[in-house]
Amino acid sequence: MGKRYYCDFCDKSFADNPTNRKNHLKGVSHQRMRKLHYSFFKDPSSLLAEESTKKPCRTMMTSGECPFGEGCKYSHLTEDRKKQLEQQILQEKAESVRKKRKLEENPPSIEDWLAKRAKAKKPESPRTELKPNLAQLAFSLPPTLLGVTNLPPSLLPPPPHVWCSINLEQEEWG
Ligand SMILES: [Zn+2]
Ligand SMILES: [Zn+2]
Repeated sequence: MGKRYYCDFCDKSFADNPTNRKNHLKGVSHQRMRKLHYSFFKDPSSLLAEESTKKPCRTMMTSGECPFGEGCKYSHLTEDRKKQLEQQILQEKAESVRKKRKLEENPPSIEDWLAKRAKAKKPESPRTELKPNLAQLAFSLPPTLLGVTNLPPSLLPPPPHVWCSINLEQEEWG
């Protein structure tokens, strides 16, 4: 069995070749699944506003399918979905009003914030433990490079004295 192409949008897989891919990606059902996927990330009010500028698609309404798919210039929004979106918008509005009111009743205090921060802050571990002892590090070439002659200096392991002369304590990042 050769390689398979898996389409996340459609939850389908097929033999991976250019023709199959092209046909699948151009297919109506794929485009619909793709659009559906991305419409989840659009906020309901902009989705609704976008759809209400279009006339309803007659093909979609009568047969439940439309050959133009994502590219259709008419709206594919069903009445149920429209109501669902309107409901969602109302709920989100109510939620934001509720949050605002709660914030006005109990304004956050800087003391609370500091107390939370102090709790969250973990004691700092001593940094010296993390620092490797450079003098003890052994550098070697990977096996694939061992047989290669005339390696550029950037690929050669550094001589030991170079590392010993570097003092990390004095290094500062600007
Ligand atoms: Zn697909
Ligand atoms: Zn349509």
